[in-house]
Amino acid sequence: MKKKSLALLLTLAMVFAFALSACGGGSEEGGEEAAANDTLVVVTEATFAPFEFTEDGNDEIVGFDVDMMEAIAADQGLTLEWKNLEFDSLIPALQSDQGDIICAGMNKLAGDRAEKVDFGDTYYESDLMLLVKSDSDLAGIDAVTKDMKLASQIGTTGGDYVQALKDEGKIAEGVVLNQWTDCYLQMQNGDVDGVVVDMPVGNSYLNEHSDIAKFAGEKFGDHEEMAFAVQKGNTELLDKLNTGLANLTESGKYDELVEKWFK
Ligand code: GLN
Repeated sequence: MKKKSLALLLTLAMVFAFALSACGGGSEEGGEEAAANDTLVVVTEATFAPFEFTEDGNDEIVGFDVDMMEAIAADQGLTLEWKNLEFDSLIPALQSDQGDIICAGMNKLAGDRAEKVDFGDTYYESDLMLLVKSDSDLAGIDAVTKDMKLASQIGTTGGDYVQALKDEGKIAEGVVLNQWTDCYLQMQNGDVDGVVVDMPVGNSYLNEHSDIAKFAGEKFGDHEEMAFAVQKGNTELLDKLNTGLANLTESGKYDELVEKWFK
């Protein structure tokens, strides 16, 4: 009796060991595949300093969003790869499976964005501001006149705002461009009368260019809540990212990054 149960136990142990080795089986190949699948593609638009930008002559994307997402990924055991796209391609990229996460200082409350992707918890709040040349007489967004041109980025809340001003006949032209850096250049060159941009981003520009530009008037538009996003229905990933963000806030790392990037 005893021998029989020992034999049964041994057989079971062997079956179990075989099953284990079979799972690990193609372990080399399977392992590599799994590792490749574990790398999540984060899409962003890297002219939005200090959230995400590249430094002169360098392709590497840096900024608050990059540090925050990398810290979240480290906390949750995820590996990220960053892809630089145009802002209005970010949501389509997730919808067509070209990316797993959007992290781009994106306002989760705008338009129908939340119907197309799932947003995480808010990590930063923002408002729109008008940036003008330092010698400009334009007093604020309500003081614009029919002959003026304003620039902003395509697909953003600022882009929609200048387009609406144009449609209402309040300005001559809404110049919606792919890159924030081009909006600033147009203002510097006097091609447009001002740039409608998020306040933390305008502030960052002014820190470097206080000789060239200034804010005109007060904040305007709808208050914005920035959040990362995942493909519709990917709650498993979204839960991880939200947990990582909560852990960062708890540990003080989030405040450290705010201190580092927003002066
Ligand atoms: N906050 C703005 C928006 O979500 C701009 C974001 C950006 O240009 N990266 O539309």
